Amino acid sequence: MTASARVAPAGSTGSPGSAAPRSAIRKSADGRTLNAMSVDVEDYFQVQAFAGHIARGDWDALPCRVDRNVNLLLDMFAEAGIKATFFTLGWIAERYPGLVKRMVAEGHELASHGWDHTRADSQEPEAFRADIRKTKRFLEDMGGVAVSGYRAATFSIGPKNPWAFAVLGEEGYRYSSSLYPIKHDLYGDTSASRTPFHPGGLPLLEVPMTTVQWFGRNFPCSGGGYFRLLPYAISRLNMRRVNAHEGQPCVFYFHPWEVDPEQPRQLGVDFRTRFRHYTNLGRMQSRLMRLLADFAWDRMDRVFLGAS
Ligand SMILES: [Zn+2]
Repeated sequence: MTASARVAPAGSTGSPGSAAPRSAIRKSADGRTLNAMSVDVEDYFQVQAFAGHIARGDWDALPCRVDRNVNLLLDMFAEAGIKATFFTLGWIAERYPGLVKRMVAEGHELASHGWDHTRADSQEPEAFRADIRKTKRFLEDMGGVAVSGYRAATFSIGPKNPWAFAVLGEEGYRYSSSLYPIKHDLYGDTSASRTPFHPGGLPLLEVPMTTVQWFGRNFPCSGGGYFRLLPYAISRLNMRRVNAHEGQPCVFYFHPWEVDPEQPRQLGVDFRTRFRHYTNLGRMQSRLMRLLADFAWDRMDRVFLGAS
């Protein structure tokens, strides 16, 4: 049986599937809902929006900022007493083993973001399998820990490639966080489940990026660019609504380059890309510190798999 035969047919990423039990929701010692803090570990030149401007072959010639930025984030998490999940590119781990070792030594979850940020929906199943296998093994060898989690580059699991969930399970991943149930020009599947589910009844758990519903519509509530572009109070209101009204934990994500206003500027990109990438970089660090204090946080595996 092929992988594609075992899961939902194309066009139904979130169904059929079975919802994760609500009893899995965890609370902090002071009774707050534990939300999942995650970082997608890639450098400023690896983002999808720059893919048409910066060739993969040029990456090694560009000044890296990820070492400085991830160390800054690790300092911030240590100060706040928070453990997070780092979805890490194999490409980064290979060049910065010290980052991986520090993440693990300080109690964070090491997880996979694929090898070099190739979109999963641009890969054939066997190329996808080779990518996620290589990355998992490399991270596990380097970190000395099991890698359970995966996040597809640019949330690129959706109606075009639901077979990816079966491949992830076969390769030993226990959860994925690769779907975003919103409408966006680079990703999104508004028909997908908004809460964690087992695609096609597989053991693998998909934890979609968090959305909030207002007037029957899904709005993004997972961090990323929206967190930088919108006033902090809106992000906080939305996340509180998900915790309090829906009784669900949120998944928050951001990138190391978002706390780095000094990163080299990419010339020749369109206004929308420039606006999304560079707006409020200088405000991000203080905004994150407020966020870390205003909500309770933990690693993805502990929030959603009940790992200890
Ligand atoms: Zn990414």
